[in-house]
Amino acid sequence: MSIEKGSISINTENIFPIIKKWLYSEKDIFIRELVSNASDAISKLKKLSALGEAEGFSDAQYKITVSLNKEKKTIKIIDNGIGMTADEVKKYINQIAFSGAVDFLEKYKDKADDQQIIGHFGLGFYSSFMVSDKVEINTLSFQKGAQAVKWESDGDTEYEMSDSERTETGTEITLFMTEDSLEFLETFKMRETLKKYFSFLPYELYLIDECEKKEENEAKKDTDSKDENEEDESKEDDVKKDEPKPLNDTKPLWLKNPKDCTDEEYKEFYRNTFMDFNEPLFWIHLNMDYPFNMKGIIYFPKLRHEFETMEGQIKLFYNQVFVANNIKEVIPEFLLLLKGCIDCPDLPLNVSRSFLQNEGYVQKISNNITKKVADKLNTIFKKERDNYNKYWDDINPFVKYGCIKEEKFYDKVKDSLIYKTTEGEYLTLSEYLEKNKEKHENQVFYVTDENQQSQYVKMFKDNEMQAVILTTMIDNHYISFLETKNHEVKFLRIDSDISDSLKDTTEENDENANKEMTEKLEKVFKESTGIDTLKVKVESLKADATPAIITLSEQSRRMQEMTKMYGGMGMGNMFPSDETLVLNSKNSLVKALISMSGQEDKKEELDLISSHIYDLAMLSHKPLAPEAMSRFIERSNSILKKLV
Ligand code: ADP
Repeated sequence: MSIEKGSISINTENIFPIIKKWLYSEKDIFIRELVSNASDAISKLKKLSALGEAEGFSDAQYKITVSLNKEKKTIKIIDNGIGMTADEVKKYINQIAFSGAVDFLEKYKDKADDQQIIGHFGLGFYSSFMVSDKVEINTLSFQKGAQAVKWESDGDTEYEMSDSERTETGTEITLFMTEDSLEFLETFKMRETLKKYFSFLPYELYLIDECEKKEENEAKKDTDSKDENEEDESKEDDVKKDEPKPLNDTKPLWLKNPKDCTDEEYKEFYRNTFMDFNEPLFWIHLNMDYPFNMKGIIYFPKLRHEFETMEGQIKLFYNQVFVANNIKEVIPEFLLLLKGCIDCPDLPLNVSRSFLQNEGYVQKISNNITKKVADKLNTIFKKERDNYNKYWDDINPFVKYGCIKEEKFYDKVKDSLIYKTTEGEYLTLSEYLEKNKEKHENQVFYVTDENQQSQYVKMFKDNEMQAVILTTMIDNHYISFLETKNHEVKFLRIDSDISDSLKDTTEENDENANKEMTEKLEKVFKESTGIDTLKVKVESLKADATPAIITLSEQSRRMQEMTKMYGGMGMGNMFPSDETLVLNSKNSLVKALISMSGQEDKKEELDLISSHIYDLAMLSHKPLAPEAMSRFIERSNSILKKLV
């Protein structure tokens, strides 16, 4: 064919500024597009060959090569796929690719937030002009007797076509990079980009630096001539080292039949994919063909330390090509706390995010994953309760968050929710209630800080009572949520009230005497602490070594915590502190206080002892404020001084 010049029929004059601006933040999509095209071209040839419609390719070594040349400032993307005839170039490139780009921009230019997903499958070949002054295509169709074609264009409406010298079936795209896109000529940058999108591409993907190769060859020539007597072995090593390795794993584990995967394979895949060297706790292999195609592996990660918030990563793939991380429209939000890969070849990615959200198919994917996760938890709970208990410390924030966020999830796992107790057991709600029903019915006592609330915990233990441990940030919400689901059950922090089982009911209760005692003590404590609003109660507690404890009603504390969470916001004084000082009438110090009260010459001791009792009770309720702490230390020292 003689050189043919042509002009693309559509008006593309205004397209560049838009493309450049729009894609500014995701410049690397040209790689995604061109390598995806190369991969598609191989798939097509493979399919034709399998159907017997392309001869001579049955044992072809399909591969894609990205070749960098810093000196010439070019990037080549080379595939040995189906190739194109001159007519096909005219049709697919001159017409479809260009008009596709125009359509695409028309549709999406105003929707910047859509770019993450649609960026993937809209712009296609045309995106190469984002980074190139000129693009060249060299292609030879698989068809018998086809003539190779060369096409070049600077992205304007003009193109030029001529015969090409190419002898191998397939396509080579050459990008002449613009000055502001030279970063992609760096091997490191290109390798990162290729690994990001194509770590699991189905065909081998190679990266070559032409300049480096040239240098190496020259260096090699040098050493070869110098060390001619070197032993053969070392030469063999060299050859091995030079053998290029593909960047990708063409058969990701998620495609394998779960039956054939070993634990070690799952762990290795996890390590390599998420660079997390802690072993995952367990995993779920998704392997669906019907009613839609979805494959993947979801891992439950181990938390590195107790206070770590879970941070997951769910990678979404489309036919083994990476699309994006953590797409909320497809993956239920609470699952984003886990780590995993999901490949959905049926996903309509060329649509906008808002459309995806409402798409029935996407809903189905989302429901299906949720169900699989719940099923897995239930199975481990039923069949491996010991392991389940062990996992609970790590997975509980995830499970709780899931319950709160997704009603369906809660409904499925509600019988597998467990609680760690102060005795180190792991019980379900009904197991806990059953165990404690004689001491307190339908009440769940909980501890938020075992160290700080140790005094209460000890009182519980001494009375053979159990509290559950709820220490994570989410627990506040979680128990409120549980209460809405289990109306008869009430959650109470261990210091919210004195459970009747802790009181000594053997002694007769003289109401008048108690009232008198309370009035006396209230006066003493109000004076020594200077708190006029202090609430004082006198009880006869079984733990007679304990002079006093502080209680704060569950409701007031939840209010206080809510206020704290909203950073005060001027609500600070709306819920005044509502703590009650409960004095133990069986304790000898308290008894002494009662007899000393009213005696003028004992005023100093009375102040000292009562202030100290108050602080000690407060200390096991919540941390003291700095000034209170200083006063407490000072007072402790002066008490000690009295002993010498
Ligand atoms: P899309 O890939 O979405 O169809 P593109 O603009 O990327 O749009 O490509 C347009 C067409 O050009 C493709 O559908 C394909 O027929 C052809 N094409 C692009 N790249 C190649 C290639 N490397 N080998 C063979 N054909 C190709």
